[in-house]
Amino acid sequence: MSGFAIEQIQEQMRQLKLVRTAEQLPLLLQDAAKGEVSYSDFLAELLGHELAAKQERHTAMKTTMARFPFQKSLESFDFKFQPSIEPKVVRELATGRFLADADNVLLLGPPGVGKTHLAVALGLRACALGFRTTFVTASGLIASLTRAHTENRLEEKLKLLVQPKLLIIDEIGYLPLERLGANLFFQLVSRRYERGSILITSNQSLAGWGQVFGDQVIATAILDRLLHHSTIVNIKGESYRLKEKRKAGLLTRSEPYTEPERAAAPEQTPT
Ligand code: ADP
Ligand code: MG
Repeated sequence: MSGFAIEQIQEQMRQLKLVRTAEQLPLLLQDAAKGEVSYSDFLAELLGHELAAKQERHTAMKTTMARFPFQKSLESFDFKFQPSIEPKVVRELATGRFLADADNVLLLGPPGVGKTHLAVALGLRACALGFRTTFVTASGLIASLTRAHTENRLEEKLKLLVQPKLLIIDEIGYLPLERLGANLFFQLVSRRYERGSILITSNQSLAGWGQVFGDQVIATAILDRLLHHSTIVNIKGESYRLKEKRKAGLLTRSEPYTEPERAAAPEQTPT
């Protein structure tokens, strides 16, 4: 086939938005000629390339839209370091079945045990599986709900927050909520109930949520909806950050928490 004819096909492919195939066409043609591939196999390979590229673009777009604070994978999580986590449970979550069922996930445990790492890793999996995902911190979420309420556009905001199939709310419990914040959070949880999954990380045990929400009744109402269909991962281990410091000889066993971590985890007993 002449170079001109290939260029013409590439241009047509670009117009059809088959960008990846257009790029790889000369190589694909060369391989096909060498291997005496059948027409149908050649076409299947060509379309397979384009589909894979489309999938990658979708995942990349969903990942950008999710606004993760960083990117960490399940593969880089050391399950041996945190034996209280059953890998089987995390593997099941990674299939994304909980998202299809609009089930919730709670990752609970002291600072540094990998809650945010796992939340991000599961969020990335959700993006790769094609689920729309949003990552927020609890404090950022409450601030934006409160602002929307004050500016009379709470309804609009709640509608937006119901859209993603997975809403990750990181760090519930670091700061106690005001009455209004707790109420707005309850409204959000109610809206998403059985419609879309919420993945929450918290340094507080569920028994401490009454204090976090400043009101046992509202905490119970929130937990009632969150826990109805949910997976709870209770992480009872040592901080990974401190392990690394300890390894570097910067800490001894008698000082397990750095001050900010100790302040952030008043309920936790240092190991
Ligand atoms: P948490 O949200 O529970 O406070 P993070 O997820 O922020 O903890 O973890 C703190 C740091 O330690 C991060 O850099 C994270 O990637 C790393 N980390 C925590 N646990 C593990 C683990 N089991 N394997 C690999 N890295 C880990
Ligand atoms: Mg965290």
